[in-house]
Amino acid sequence: MNVLRRHPVAIALVVLLLLTAIHPLPALVDAVTGSAPGDADLDRPILYVMFAPLSDTLDALTFFSLSRAVWAVVVWTLLLAAWGAVRASSDSLRWQRVVATASLGPAALVLLVVAALVLPRPVPRLASDGPGTVIDYHAHTNASHDGRPGWTLPKLAAWHERQGFQATYVTDHNVVYDGSLPPEGISISLLPGVEWSVYRQHVVAIGRVEALPRDSFGETTARMVRIFSAIEHQGGLSIASLPEYWRNHAEELGAFAVAGVDGFEIVNCAPKALGFPSDLRRQVIGLAESRDLMVVGASDNHGWGQVTCVWNVSRPGAQGFHTNRVFARPLALVQGDWRAWTAPITQPWFTLRGLSWSERASWLTWVVIILLYRALPRREGQSAGLGILARSVFRGRKAAAAAPAPNKNPT
Ligand SMILES: [Zn+2]
Repeated sequence: MNVLRRHPVAIALVVLLLLTAIHPLPALVDAVTGSAPGDADLDRPILYVMFAPLSDTLDALTFFSLSRAVWAVVVWTLLLAAWGAVRASSDSLRWQRVVATASLGPAALVLLVVAALVLPRPVPRLASDGPGTVIDYHAHTNASHDGRPGWTLPKLAAWHERQGFQATYVTDHNVVYDGSLPPEGISISLLPGVEWSVYRQHVVAIGRVEALPRDSFGETTARMVRIFSAIEHQGGLSIASLPEYWRNHAEELGAFAVAGVDGFEIVNCAPKALGFPSDLRRQVIGLAESRDLMVVGASDNHGWGQVTCVWNVSRPGAQGFHTNRVFARPLALVQGDWRAWTAPITQPWFTLRGLSWSERASWLTWVVIILLYRALPRREGQSAGLGILARSVFRGRKAAAAAPAPNKNPT
């Protein structure tokens, strides 16, 4: 009872970890069938699992649609600040102390967001038993105007390699990558491509494509869709990118097919594209199946974030509905199904449901370690520190028994 009253956050977390284990989400979902693939799984490195609370939190911050990210960050910031202020004012009324303590939580949240974007860390990789190449259809380097500075081809290749990709198309904005002169020292294939910006649409062109007079595909949808046959003429394949076709052309996708588009992205990990709703995804899959068009997943990596939300297993250059399989992280797929304002609750909920048993064990271990550490008696005025934990390991129960009544408000 005492533990429950003194450590409500830890106890709530334990309850949530047990509750979310009742209906866990699979590590991966086949974005076409909606079920877990039998022949592909996520391979999580040992360090990723050891530090699962951090790994999973950073992943959860990465797989956020833009509107949900805004809601979550604003609400969490306010809650953390309020919690800090209440805690501080219960033992001191000096306003400087209250403000300082209230800013700790929001500052930690900012640090986590920055870490999700730039901190190198162990990441899961796709392990596929089936035939085919693990491939990404859409990724950027610093040759794109919005690519991360210093995000060169070798860095892009290393990012993909860490996550189990064997190949990626390089599709910078309106800059053709011709695939000649691949950088040295990389062990995945960098394939030629480009992402054209045309009338209210981005079109990924893959294969040995060349420059196009982009202006001739401007002003109307009717002019824009002609780019599909122009790309075909060059021997390339065209893929309509997210979020543009969802945002700007959702009613005109039949015209895309008639004009000769070769495929549609159905998952794209960019924050603006992650909100793509499942019902429209199903419609696009239906259209693609009836016209024998490809459906693909795209990391759309620009150099920010350490993890992809989607992989493809296919053959480079393959065409048609049945040539490509799309495996996505379930947290990415639910972004379009839940209203933005629910994100402060639904993001942690789906994150915890997505834990593997080993990640769940890691989370519980960390909760116990932190509980033990915080429950240890300490001398008057002594702040929390590793020394206490170390000392407790050596002195154990004897120290606990000899200590005065437990500190009511361990800091
Ligand atoms: Zn892109």
